[in-house]
Amino acid sequence: MFTLPGLPYAYEALEPVVSARTLHFHHDKHHAGYLKALNDLLAAPGKLPRDLEDVIGDASKSGERKLFNNAAQVWNHSFFWIAMSPSRQQPDDALVAAIEKAFVNLAGLQTAFIKAGAEHFGSGWVWLAADQIGGLSVLTTHDADGTLSHPGLTPLLVCDVWEHAYYLDHQNDRKGFLEAWFSALPNWAFAARQFAAARGSGEPWRHPAPTPYGGLTQAA
Ligand code: MN
Repeated sequence: MFTLPGLPYAYEALEPVVSARTLHFHHDKHHAGYLKALNDLLAAPGKLPRDLEDVIGDASKSGERKLFNNAAQVWNHSFFWIAMSPSRQQPDDALVAAIEKAFVNLAGLQTAFIKAGAEHFGSGWVWLAADQIGGLSVLTTHDADGTLSHPGLTPLLVCDVWEHAYYLDHQNDRKGFLEAWFSALPNWAFAARQFAAARGSGEPWRHPAPTPYGGLTQAA
């Protein structure tokens, strides 16, 4: 089964952009809810589920929408927590060069990212991703879909634009949320590791591996 990763910072660490109240609902209710649904769908005594990336890929191919939606939302949220940092950061030199190539400068990326997220219709995610030769792009995905559906793209950053991500703190102002988010919260150190992995140096982030369901292991 898959377990809920703890947040890599305190619940109040992302304030004022993301309040502790929002993080409690978002992590402890929404993310945990997707995780429980995923585990319920995969559960069989003694069975070890495949890695989450494989579960998502298989469910996408076979059209198992409920499994795909819950598995992909678990993946997206686990990635989202890591892609944020409470300490304000700047992209490193390698990323700055790639950003300048694709977006002129960091302000250009910021404008493109905010515009894509603000104009995305309905629920979804806005991503900064890199291709295998280091070309950067901003893209949005609908509902549970993410960059795993785009072979060759490695995600560097993501912001959740489902209403549950911002409504308690910013109400209907998704653009204001994205502006505040992009200025304060991107984990550029993590993005730099992902960017290196995209170009073949090191491995990109993978979801923590599952453990067997009850029946093989001693109950704790
Ligand atoms: Mn969410």
